[in-house]
Amino acid sequence: MNNKAVATPTRTKEILKKYGFSFKKSLGQNFLVDVNILRNIIEHAGIHKQAGAIEIGPGIGALTEQLAIHADRVVAFEIDQRLLPILEDTLSEYSNVEIINEDILKADVEAVIREKFDEGQPIHVVANLPYYITTPILMKLLMDRLSFDSLTVMIQKEVADRMAAEPNTKSYGSLSIAVQYYTEAEVVMNVPKTVFMPQPNVDSAVLRLKMRNEPPVHVEDEEFFFDTVKATFGQRRKTLMNNLARHFKGEMDKEELRTRLGEIGIDPSRRGESLSMEEFATLANALYVK
Ligand code: SAM
Repeated sequence: MNNKAVATPTRTKEILKKYGFSFKKSLGQNFLVDVNILRNIIEHAGIHKQAGAIEIGPGIGALTEQLAIHADRVVAFEIDQRLLPILEDTLSEYSNVEIINEDILKADVEAVIREKFDEGQPIHVVANLPYYITTPILMKLLMDRLSFDSLTVMIQKEVADRMAAEPNTKSYGSLSIAVQYYTEAEVVMNVPKTVFMPQPNVDSAVLRLKMRNEPPVHVEDEEFFFDTVKATFGQRRKTLMNNLARHFKGEMDKEELRTRLGEIGIDPSRRGESLSMEEFATLANALYVK
């Protein structure tokens, strides 16, 4: 029995040495070595003894161990096969953890949820994500409309700020709309580089995403909506009209665009970054032709 948490610099170094493990930068391997940060993350995630937890990228088990202690059951997806024997060792005391050796981007997460958790059990995704694929992972989990309640993830601070951004801020963009269409987003913690081994080059933050039961706005066609949002941010310094005219070239001329914007009371000289989610929905619905 080892009563020292995995997430301490000394224990982590011991484990890495024992297994001769070398970090793979290409897999975004920056392990957490601060138990207090982990407990904070778990608290923000709303983990409790009846809850299920899904982790992406357990590494050597720093966060997995804390999840095993605080949740009912933990399922973790890890792509790096070299970590499997290590995790078996570091998590040997916990019978409520299962590691799946799979790329999260290829995994059938819904099938895993159905198989591994009780029906109706609250499920929270908690992860210190590999930074090189943060956005693809989050967008996959959100767009697949999987049946979990929230995601609490450590990611690059700049990306966290963009995902949770409000209109009229520098960070606001199509990623803010994409994420906030599916979730209520909030940056709950900024995290210093010093709690990682090795230390990353960028600052980190913990982003909490609470899944919405329904989107906050009605849109006629989701793909068209997201395309239109992207187009209005195409060139940030240009007006709505310029960005839309470029995007709809050959389909709708400026005159037509001006008429449609006039009908919904949106000034074509505004910039994309000033539009709220509701205004984007109104705009896309007004431009959409079935
Ligand atoms: N959770 C551990 C911690 O906090 O110390 C490790 C976090 S580390 C930032 C990211 C982890 O994700 C690594 O263990 C890495 O091997 C794993 N990983 C990278 N790409 C992955 C993928 N596509 N699917 C599953 N795991 C992945």
